[in-house]
Amino acid sequence: MRVQDIIVLGGGSAGLMAALTLKRRLPQLSIRVVRSPEFGVIGVGEATTLSFPKHFFEYLKLKPQSFFEEAEPTWKLAIRFLWGPRPRFYYTFAYEFQQRLPGMGRNNGFYYRSEQPWAGPVSAFVAHDKAFPKRPDGTPRFHNNHGYHIENVKLVGWLEGLCRTFGVEIIDATVTAERSEAGIGALVMEDGTRMTADLYLDASGFRSELLGRTLAEPFISYADSLFCDRAVVGSWNRTDEPLLPYTTAETMDTGWCWQIEHEHSINRGYVYSSSFISDEAALAEFLRKNPRVTGTPRVVKFRSGRHARNWVGNVVGIGNSVGFVEPLESTALQIICVEVSTLADSLLDSLCEPNPTLVELYNRYNAQAWDDIRDFLSVHYKFNTRLDTPFWQAARSDVQLHGAQFLVDFYRQNGPSVVAGAQLLHASNSFGMDGYLALLVGQDVAYDRRYAAPVAEEKLWHDRCQVWGAEARQGLTSEQCLGVIRNSGSCWA
Ligand SMILES: Cc1cc2nc3c(=O)[nH]c(=O)nc-3n(C[C@H](O)[C@H](O)[C@H](O)COP(=O)(O)OP(=O)(O)OC[C@H]3O[C@@H](n4cnc5c(N)ncnc54)[C@H](O)[C@@H]3O)c2cc1C
Repeated sequence: MRVQDIIVLGGGSAGLMAALTLKRRLPQLSIRVVRSPEFGVIGVGEATTLSFPKHFFEYLKLKPQSFFEEAEPTWKLAIRFLWGPRPRFYYTFAYEFQQRLPGMGRNNGFYYRSEQPWAGPVSAFVAHDKAFPKRPDGTPRFHNNHGYHIENVKLVGWLEGLCRTFGVEIIDATVTAERSEAGIGALVMEDGTRMTADLYLDASGFRSELLGRTLAEPFISYADSLFCDRAVVGSWNRTDEPLLPYTTAETMDTGWCWQIEHEHSINRGYVYSSSFISDEAALAEFLRKNPRVTGTPRVVKFRSGRHARNWVGNVVGIGNSVGFVEPLESTALQIICVEVSTLADSLLDSLCEPNPTLVELYNRYNAQAWDDIRDFLSVHYKFNTRLDTPFWQAARSDVQLHGAQFLVDFYRQNGPSVVAGAQLLHASNSFGMDGYLALLVGQDVAYDRRYAAPVAEEKLWHDRCQVWGAEARQGLTSEQCLGVIRNSGSCWA
């Protein structure tokens, strides 16, 4: 296969991120995006992980200025979990649980206490609702341990502008696919016009027009780990609520609810299992919890899992067309970053002539990235003891941990040791041992080998937490940081 000409089917975040990434990395390629005005984009999906800024501002070397101006993000430094027996805990992107401070016998995870619910400086900041430290001149000292909250439609608008700037053609049309021996022979518009390319990217969202509907690639369900299959989504305009520097994930009777912080609005979504609750009862619980929601909340149906392969013949799936897991760790945009960067790297490395082993490698790598997410999310469900409803009883007894099973067994005997991470998680696991420790320690999962820290170490830890807390109280809120970057063009995060 020689790739010179690519058609991307879909103009949601997946399609536009794919087109932008390929055009930026391989400008010689001709790239067209076809999107249906009839179907539109999914319109939800609003929190990211660390991989988003890394992809756009490091891998693609774009400048953040237009992103801040057009997509209007806010910073996400953590997820605040209202989950398990502790009142709350935070999962940051800063690898705090695995660190070991000078003078301490073990890493931070062994000393964590609910009374000071932070394990390092970044979680201390978010525990005080602060985003970044303040420099002596009053400006934020930005760091890179953050994701964003972004409204889906604004993100799509920003991506579309960039695609056009870099020479991607965008065509509005609803198409059907024509099969061929190689996979897809052409995309056909309603007026009969045929469009052909060397490679077709299927970014058609849940419709999965090419990979699912046309090529019938088998689907691997994650339903034995992830029981939820619906979300009810609503929002309200911000009034006097503080702009929080984190996403909240809150335990609900039959699943959980996110809270995402946009500058002018607050977005909430209840992810639930239709086997345990009706849409009407879920909506009622959602509205009881969120009485400020305006308009009619929308129900989105989904299935958790992935197609067996991303790349089949002359088709590569990207985003929701390949698979989906609920946004408990906000991983959809992250996996799109993985899918599109590995595709660009594969084309670069093969001089745009990918062969079967390269395709096989691509498929193995991306399948692993999907399964890693399923494994990590299963730990969230297996150990959440906050509620004792039928849903949570079933989750604790029946959720399958798959690839996380041995890591959890190791933790159960050895506690929040860092040794397991190096042995059990491959280098590209996006959560790493620190992610697992945040969730296992955060949910207060019991383990056998307790560490009886000497009094001097306990005091050192307590004092260190006090210092982090004091520094955090001096920090800047998200509103203050946004104010600074708007007033000084030179100070982009
Ligand atoms: C409830 C919920 C919450 C979520 N929360 C998060 C989150 O917090 N963080 C996160 O990272 N992700 C989240 N996501 C996922 C995220 O929204 C998506 O993964 C992401 O936006 C990518 O969507 P997409 O581009 O694959 O699909 P879509 O946005 O659905 O785009 C599909 C595109 O294909 C086009 N198309 C389809 N069929 C045809 C056709 N026949 N002809 C022409 N065009 C066609 C459509 O017009 C559209 O342009 C969430 C998803 C759901 C359901």
